[in-house]
Amino acid sequence: MSRSSNRLFLAAAAVVAFAFAVASASHGAPAPSPLRLYVFDCGTLHVADMARFQLKKEEVSTTDLSVACYLIVHPKGTMIWDTGAVPDSAWKPTGDPVTQHLVLQDGEQRDVTVRRSLESQLSEVGYAPADISYIALSHYHYDHTANANAFAGATWLVRQIERDAMFVPNPAGAAQPSTYSALRNSKTVLLGTDDYDVFKDGTVVIKFAPGHTPGHQVLYVKLQKTGGVLLSGDLYHFPEERALGRVPTFEFNQDQTRASRAAIEAFLKQTGAQLWIQHDFAGNAKLKKAPAFYD
Ligand SMILES: [Zn+2]
Repeated sequence: MSRSSNRLFLAAAAVVAFAFAVASASHGAPAPSPLRLYVFDCGTLHVADMARFQLKKEEVSTTDLSVACYLIVHPKGTMIWDTGAVPDSAWKPTGDPVTQHLVLQDGEQRDVTVRRSLESQLSEVGYAPADISYIALSHYHYDHTANANAFAGATWLVRQIERDAMFVPNPAGAAQPSTYSALRNSKTVLLGTDDYDVFKDGTVVIKFAPGHTPGHQVLYVKLQKTGGVLLSGDLYHFPEERALGRVPTFEFNQDQTRASRAAIEAFLKQTGAQLWIQHDFAGNAKLKKAPAFYD
């Protein structure tokens, strides 16, 4: 081929490729769903002392709690909701479950079994922590903050009262401040309303549900096919707390927890949204895990 016919061939190929792209955009595969919710496996927490939940071993189907992390992908950005119990940097995946013994800053100890790093699960669906637009934590306890520092480049969505509780010298409760210390300098939006509509279209709404901690919050996600889903944070841990009306002993304020539960139950009734109790081992086991997603 001469130089000029070569150029002509390339130009023709470009026109064909462009026409094909236009055709497939208008008549080809359906447009991707506007909103996706990914569920990541962030481990299993073994509860030794059921009295902390005002429950007896005989009253629950299992004393294990799931630890889940979630990624919301919206056309206007992405948000990570909760970041696990064990930092990725603290262990090496082997392909088999690895049990980590954690000593918290207040001396409390916990055993958590992890199988996959959060970062590897994110990467599998096409994201690195640096790509994430927003980080929101249901609350600051260690089993929700483990990988928070990795998302310090995101905009942190938090209530002033929770942020204040996190950055005192010895935060109350089961906290591991070293796991979230980098958020101190993150770009931060202090949520000033009970409901905070993240993408301003009503599909991803952070709802104030205080009691477990001062600024505890839950997340409502309105999905096209799945319908409404409410991620509980630690409003409940065991489904039996909900059924039997039990409140843990270690709440920041038990009356606030009762009031938040009543408000959220009314919201669920009004919207028909499903409640996903994040720590509910059996409930979480039934969910599709990333790379599968809810839309
Ligand atoms: Zn928790």
